[in-house]
Order: sequence, then C-alpha cells, then structure tokens
Amino acid sequence: MMLECRGITAGYNGSPVLEKIDISIGEGEIVTLVGANGAGKSTLVNAISGLLRPMSGEIHFDGKRIDQLSPADRVRMGIAHVPEGRQVFAGMTVAENLSLGAYTQSSRSVSDLRSGRMRELCDQYPFLRERINDVVGNFSGGQQQMLAIARGLMSNPRLIMLDEPSLGLSPLMVQEVLNLVTQLRERGLSVLLSEQNARAALAIADRGYVIENGRVTLSGKASDLLDSPEIAERYLGVGAATRFSQEESKRMAASLRDCIGPATDSPVPGVRMS
Ligand code: ATP
Repeated sequence: MMLECRGITAGYNGSPVLEKIDISIGEGEIVTLVGANGAGKSTLVNAISGLLRPMSGEIHFDGKRIDQLSPADRVRMGIAHVPEGRQVFAGMTVAENLSLGAYTQSSRSVSDLRSGRMRELCDQYPFLRERINDVVGNFSGGQQQMLAIARGLMSNPRLIMLDEPSLGLSPLMVQEVLNLVTQLRERGLSVLLSEQNARAALAIADRGYVIENGRVTLSGKASDLLDSPEIAERYLGVGAATRFSQEESKRMAASLRDCIGPATDSPVPGVRMS
C-alpha cells in the first residue's frame, strides 16, 4: 500500500476526535472517506498532510514513517492536500494561484520548475490555459474548485487528498469535478476523497471507508458499499433511531443505484463491518 494509517488517534486540545483509525490507499486508487458533517474526515486528512499531529498511531507513505515530518516534507514526498473550502486567492490570477502550489520547491531553478509544471498542467487541462491571466475573484465555485485541485497538482504529487470538493456546487459542477478526479486516477495518481456526498463519491471510488463519530464503521469496495442497506439508510437522511426491514433497505439501495447508474446486483460480500 502507498499510504497506511495505523491506529490513528487525533483531536484538539487533548480531546480525541478520531479513535484508532486504520486506513490504506494503494497506488492508482481512489479511496473515499464518507461520513456526516463533523464525523472526523477533515481531521484525518489534516493528520495525513501534517497540519495536525496525531496523539498516537503511525502514518507510513511508500514504506517510510511520515507522522513526525513537517507538512512541507510530506508535500516533497508526494502528498498534496486540497483543503475544504478551496481557499484560492480571489485577488490573484490563475497563474499566481498555481505558483503558490509549488511553494515547497526549493531548487535554485524554482521558477523554471514552476513554469514547466504550469505548462504541463495547462496542456492537460485546457481550461487553465484559457483563463491563465484572469483574476479568480468572480469564478464560479466549480471553477475555483478545479483551480484548487490544479494548484495541488503543481507539486507533482503521487497522492492527492481532496477535502469536500463537491461542497456547495451545483449537481452539474459536482459531476465535472468528479470527472476530473477520475482523470487523475487515469494519470496514475492515488486520490483520497473526503465527502459528505457519499453517493457521488462511492460512484467513482474504488474503495471507501465510512467514518462515524471518529471511527471507521464500514469499509469495503465502493460498489459493495453502495449496495449496503446501512449506507442506504444513513444516506436517505433517516435518523439512527429509525430501523428499516432488510427488504425496505434493499429497495432503497436499489433506487440509489438507479440514480447513479448500474452496479453489481450481488448482496454485499466485500463490505466489512467493524
Ligand atoms: P466537515 O465536513 O464538517 O468538515 P468532518 O467529518 O470533516 O466534517 P471534522 O472537521 O474533522 O469533521 O471535525 C470533527 C470534530 O472535530 C467536530 O466535532 C469538530 O467540531 C471538531 N473540530 C474540528 N476542527 C477543530 C479545531 N480546530 N478545534 C477544535 N475542534 C475541532
């Protein structure tokens, strides 16, 4: 596995939010963390990027332990983090925003590296070239999200972590952003996708982890998770106190599948409950 989190406990002011989380991401995989607002997804992503130091547990990337390294060292090793809320600089142009994504490059030819990488990205994603000198302020939320992802790609990562990229976007724009995520996998990147929009995330992911109250409560192949009655139940916004019969849950899972296209009809063989 490219990334492994083993027994990560992390939180704020001495109080744990995450309890002994184990997750892994393989080369070229899209892995999604799904869970409600406040479940702990961003906390885990921040622990991996180094913005938050775990209280215990270990994080390994390419077989090396990284949980004591600075965020900048982790970027240099190939981990990029696109934070929740996009955080692009509204008063700057696309080119200026992209340049900031290469801030950890310490080579003396830093500007060459930056402009070379920017050219590569503009070749891969023509929307960047079209808007390269435009000030970002009046871009739509979707355009800002695409730019935030491109900025993450400036450091030429092997793993990119996207925190809630679909937040606040129209359904059409969500689709565009998810298409971009799928293209990243086609280019050989690994992606960790943290999403409240479980339906959309599981539809493009290879595997998923469901996080609830700081713990992994379900994990497995994304297609199996989509078939799971537990996901259907949580998904439809029904409170935990309400219980459906197995039949009703399966019917809901089937209608969910209809919304996002075909998936396997098998029960839920690959889903592990913890
Ligand atoms: P969201 O989609 O809202 O970001 P999430 O699953 O990513 O949800 P986290 O942001 O990781 O959840 O938050 C998990 C818990 O940690 C929440 O109870 C939140 O209030 C708390 N929390 C997050 N950031 C901080 C912080 N800087 N200081 C104290 N508590 C925090």
